[in-house]
Amino acid sequence: MVIVSTSNTAQEVKDNIQTGLNGPTAMPVVIVVPREQAPGEQRVATVPEVVQKLTKSGYEIRIEHDAGTGAFYSDDLFIAAGAKVVSNRADLLNGARIVLRVQPPTVADIDQLAEGTIVIGFMNAAKNLEMVARMRDRKVTAFALELVPRITRAQSMDALSSQATAGGYVAAILGATNCPKFLPMLTTAAGTIRPATVLILGAGVAGLMAIATAKRLGALVEAYDVRRAAGEQVRSLGARFLELEINAEGQGGYARELTPEEKVKEQQMVSAAVARADIVITTASIPGRKAPVLITRETVATMRPGAVIIDMAAESGGNCELTQTGKTVREHGIMIIGPQNLPSRIPFHTSQMYAKNLQSFLSLLVDNDGVIVKEFTDEILTASLLVHEGEVHHKPTRDLMIGGKS
Ligand code: NAD
Repeated sequence: MVIVSTSNTAQEVKDNIQTGLNGPTAMPVVIVVPREQAPGEQRVATVPEVVQKLTKSGYEIRIEHDAGTGAFYSDDLFIAAGAKVVSNRADLLNGARIVLRVQPPTVADIDQLAEGTIVIGFMNAAKNLEMVARMRDRKVTAFALELVPRITRAQSMDALSSQATAGGYVAAILGATNCPKFLPMLTTAAGTIRPATVLILGAGVAGLMAIATAKRLGALVEAYDVRRAAGEQVRSLGARFLELEINAEGQGGYARELTPEEKVKEQQMVSAAVARADIVITTASIPGRKAPVLITRETVATMRPGAVIIDMAAESGGNCELTQTGKTVREHGIMIIGPQNLPSRIPFHTSQMYAKNLQSFLSLLVDNDGVIVKEFTDEILTASLLVHEGEVHHKPTRDLMIGGKS
């Protein structure tokens, strides 16, 4: 295996940024992919298959040594696909025109980037205001993939969906492996086994995948969502949709917050369904807000001993009152799992999907001649632009920063 230590000179990077010289006779756009450093993060922002395509299109790809190891993509595979593997992180970042990441960059990493460098990845800006301020001050450009609008044209770059699909699948498997029962109905010489009941609360992207997975495992599946439109999708997967006289479909297909009266009605119906379930998977969330509490402490006490709750909303406050983020809690014989970063548990495929999302996104940012577009006028670029030329473009983040005086 050959590991090179390579970087553009500061002048080369500056020239490239100032003139956008990326045509056939000029320098190729240098894309760098650092090793993710967040605890527990196994994913990598690109994979050899995508590197091969990007290299063919004229990009130069530099990847940090061991960046793909956690997802089972070795340095050798990246080299064979046409990437250069760089052992020194400072060298890697220093020569970057575009940086592809899964998790937001650290302040230390941002300090290594030249002015005008473009960073693309999940930014989780509301929780990382210091990072946003540093990118603004160092005039780094950042695109946040979670801000890509959910429009048909953007489906191939919808990383929220690709990763939520994986999260829903892993949650169903986690529920099955922690449940003391079979999921399918079995007729055996040792007697007949009744199928387990799985309840999914929140039938968005993750919820629908959890439903499909639990169905494939043979469980009886029930699901609930405040958006009535979700009913049809739930039924098409062969699950039962719990109906409530509420339609809380809000802007952009997302749910709106329920009124206090609606919350009481919801609570009663959900509690009855939770009490009869062997596995409950909760995915309910409202963008930019704390997750709604759907399972109270009292409801947990009514559940069957041995039942399992997988709270996929654990990282945004939890759908169960007893959830502790990153921990497993046991109460009244019920196991409440509050997982973090479920997509990272199947990093081989989630990295592959994420890499393809990024490849699609790059096709908007770089034109057919290999030149980075000068104006980010495409609505997908406009919506996902977080920071550019010393300004925070995403208004909710800007408002939070003004409030916190970042
Ligand atoms: P999400 O992660 O924001 O929320 C998960 C689910 O929780 C949603 O279905 C939401 O309605 C539900 N929820 C919120 N509050 C609830 C409550 N109190 N009780 C029960 N359920 C509750 O959602 P998501 O998975 O990111 O999807 C959001 C929407 O975007 C969906 O309509 C989805 O179909 C749509 N979408 C569209 C596209 C596209 O057209 N390109 C792509 C992806 C998703």
